[in-house]
Amino acid sequence: MKNPLQIIELPIQIIEELIQNENFNSLKPVQCDECKSEKGFARKIFLIKNYRKDDYNLLSYHLFESKKIKSFFLKTIKRKRYIDSAICEKCKSAKIVFDIEFTPKFLKTASEFLNISEDKLKNDLEVVLSKITGHKN
Ligand SMILES: [Zn+2]
Repeated sequence: MKNPLQIIELPIQIIEELIQNENFNSLKPVQCDECKSEKGFARKIFLIKNYRKDDYNLLSYHLFESKKIKSFFLKTIKRKRYIDSAICEKCKSAKIVFDIEFTPKFLKTASEFLNISEDKLKNDLEVVLSKITGHKN
């Protein structure tokens, strides 16, 4: 019998530590989808245990029903899995747009992995992102 999925809400101190981590925070909240505010997001981060791929629907159902979270990201840092989400402090909406910040470390790692120059990578990423999000940086 498999262990049940666990979703543990993290205290503010741990959240503060995690968002200082460049790897964790390269994808971060940038805009409220409701009021279009670009700052003042309360991060909500959960540690999840015993997660399997087929648990995704269960996970999103649970997050919505008990935490009112409509959009979230799964992140893995140091073999631990997290749910990253945010709430707009202005209008309390949980529909927040996340975007990737191209940190120097991110660009260096990705360009080496893909074996292309950092400039080419950055241009390609901007194109991809504008296709996905429909807005230009
Ligand atoms: Zn808002």
